[in-house]
Amino acid sequence: MEYYSTNGKTANVTLKEAVVKGLAADRGLFMPKTIPTLPDVFFKNIGNLSLQEISYAVAYTLFGEDIETEQLKDIVYDTLNFDIPLVHVADDRYSLELFHGPTLAFKDVGARFMARLLGYFNKQEKGLVNVLVATSGDTGSAVANGFLGVEGVRVFVLYPQGKVSKIQESQFTTLGKNITAIEVNGTFDDCQALVKSAFMDEELNEKMRLTSANSINVARFLPQMFYYFHAYAQLVQRGQDVSNLVVAVPSGNFGNITAGLIGKAMGLPIKRFIAANNANDIFYKYLQTGKYEPKPSITTIANAMDVGDPSNFARVLDLYKHSHEAICKDISGCTYTDEQIAETMAETYKNEGYMLDPHGACGYRALKEGMKPGEVGVFIETAHPAKFKDTVEAIIGDEVKIPAKLKAFMKGKKQTVKMSNGFTAFKKYLMKV
Ligand SMILES: *Cc1c(COP(=O)(O)O)cnc(C)c1O
Repeated sequence: MEYYSTNGKTANVTLKEAVVKGLAADRGLFMPKTIPTLPDVFFKNIGNLSLQEISYAVAYTLFGEDIETEQLKDIVYDTLNFDIPLVHVADDRYSLELFHGPTLAFKDVGARFMARLLGYFNKQEKGLVNVLVATSGDTGSAVANGFLGVEGVRVFVLYPQGKVSKIQESQFTTLGKNITAIEVNGTFDDCQALVKSAFMDEELNEKMRLTSANSINVARFLPQMFYYFHAYAQLVQRGQDVSNLVVAVPSGNFGNITAGLIGKAMGLPIKRFIAANNANDIFYKYLQTGKYEPKPSITTIANAMDVGDPSNFARVLDLYKHSHEAICKDISGCTYTDEQIAETMAETYKNEGYMLDPHGACGYRALKEGMKPGEVGVFIETAHPAKFKDTVEAIIGDEVKIPAKLKAFMKGKKQTVKMSNGFTAFKKYLMKV
């Protein structure tokens, strides 16, 4: 399969090139040249398949030409060595719990897949690959842990100083080995800009092989569609009517939801999506007005969604051939203040006995307010509530138990490199490492 750039000003590339480069030479994002569909018989039988079996079938359809079959199977099975259960919350609303992986957030799926795929491609090469990743919290931990100890790969995690929770921070600043955490005096958008500038800098690229593990990378972004198929399969197993399925996705950079949209284009019968935003409402506004107006991000209690210029918006536009009307047909939006997020968390804990994290709360509320009669709703519970322990405890008035996996991170010693938000200093640092 070839991959093209959403900016259309550069030649198509192979999967390997798309994964190694991350961003296209014209600054566009890579998209698969064709979107293959899965056969009807796959969907007829899907209720009998496991997460790994489903994911492998989807992966084979997308990547089968580019990765040896046995290796692809190993990559998929190894990536998904944890559960992604669908849990009933209330009425026809279900939570797809994506927090059972090593760092307790959905980004484990894409990050683990990408680390293994890059390792596979890198076997044919000599020398180090340098992964640069900007994080607003969960990406850093998922990527750092996904790549920890992968040979031939060094990872630099850039994060905004003081803007991620202590627990999140411990997950990527304590690892050592091939992982370096860079504490940037600025916002998440500054971190993202530093990474993008590094990819565009000729001198740097001559000196070192750079790649991105942000959701702009196809190897992180596309595997996220696996669990939408698995959610559908679990509804089928429960005997749910799946003819009017709505999926609400707490969204920041829009990688997660865009993967789901491509899953739909591959034949997965999801009727429609809801993009649930916090106060960073750029996409919501776009749906209302047809105008895309990026803004500096606003800090909220759902901090992994504090994005003022969602990088995957270009992919949404591309997928729908820039038709605002077509986008609005498949996706609706909503935006919630911190007060509304907190209210949803408190009420859902009290009334349904279900503990939401601040991100999942946006998704759950989106279903509660946005589902029409006859629809069945799934929201993506993107992180474990314990990752935001203080916030969640203050809101629900109860204790949040920390899973053993998280406790282990918190015992480690923090090691970071401090950096200003200007590119000159960052470049100088990279030239020397
Ligand atoms: C990254 C993240 C999001 C946003 O996902 P996007 O793919 O960037 O839209 C939502 N919730 C949590 C917990 C996250 O870590």
